[in-house]
Amino acid sequence: MWNIIGHEWAVDYLRQSIATGRDAHAYLISGPAAVGKALLALRLAQTLNCERGGDAPCLECRACKRIERGNHPDVRIAGMASQGAGLKAEEAARQKELKIGTVREWQRDISLKPYEGRRRVFILHDAERLNEESSNAMLKTLEEPPPYATLVLVANSADLLPTIVSRCQLIRLRPLPRRHVAEALQTRFGMEEADADLLAAWSGGRIGWALRMVETPDELQTQQEKLAGLLALHGQPGPSGFRWAEERAKEYRNGEQETVFGWLELWQSWWRDVLLTAANCPQSITHVDRRDELTQAARRYPVAEVFAFVRRIGDTNRQLRENVNPQLALENLLLHMPGG
Ligand SMILES: [Zn+2]
Repeated sequence: MWNIIGHEWAVDYLRQSIATGRDAHAYLISGPAAVGKALLALRLAQTLNCERGGDAPCLECRACKRIERGNHPDVRIAGMASQGAGLKAEEAARQKELKIGTVREWQRDISLKPYEGRRRVFILHDAERLNEESSNAMLKTLEEPPPYATLVLVANSADLLPTIVSRCQLIRLRPLPRRHVAEALQTRFGMEEADADLLAAWSGGRIGWALRMVETPDELQTQQEKLAGLLALHGQPGPSGFRWAEERAKEYRNGEQETVFGWLELWQSWWRDVLLTAANCPQSITHVDRRDELTQAARRYPVAEVFAFVRRIGDTNRQLRENVNPQLALENLLLHMPGG
């Protein structure tokens, strides 16, 4: 059993192509972060090597279990995480691209026949970070993959070299409908309806994110506290705002970039909700537990200012990725808060 929440069409498609022996030699699984790409890639690897055969993994045999734990000799996984392994956190965080060395290492491995499984499966995460040189190296393998190998590129966008995309079977995962996430949280985890609705709304349909929150309830609490901290900045930037920017900049430099992007995403989701409230689209809002505050904010701030700020948060996100000084970028953002 694939045991995947949602993405039924993708699972059906893979099952059918495996059952009819028409599975591709190369796949590109794309979609937003935490939408379920890594799990789909893992299940594909398990199906191709499950000791019981068939078009679904049993999840119980030795092969399935070893793949799940990441120690099957015929399933290799690489990406920014493996490239950064062994480096100090700050050094790993400074790496922006998948280097040719990482791809080459992968390719050396591809030339080996399966040790004990039926197929050698290579999963490359973060494929959107292949630079030109490593993309070209990758192309060689995609053009002539060994007959016993399946390559799975996993990427946050399908915005890769067209020559790479055209040689892969593209599987584009989208966020799940909010109510599917809420239902899964209730039926599988026994969550109360109100909590499930809130978490589903916050997840934006990214099931992996929602499940992480279920496993680490403290995280959800932390999210709520972060949001409260951000809301406290509204209307009184001053010293507390600059302290906030300083703390985030420090996180950023210490290799916790994703945490900082998480802050920006959270803040943007709040102001987007203010816009949706002003536009009278309450069914689409994320922060369903804070409707009163949203209504107040929608009355208080001019829509044009809110809209400009939502865009500015996106710009700041981009600037950070382009290596602008984080403290300056965040301070500049604060100066443009609505009502400021
Ligand atoms: Zn199995």
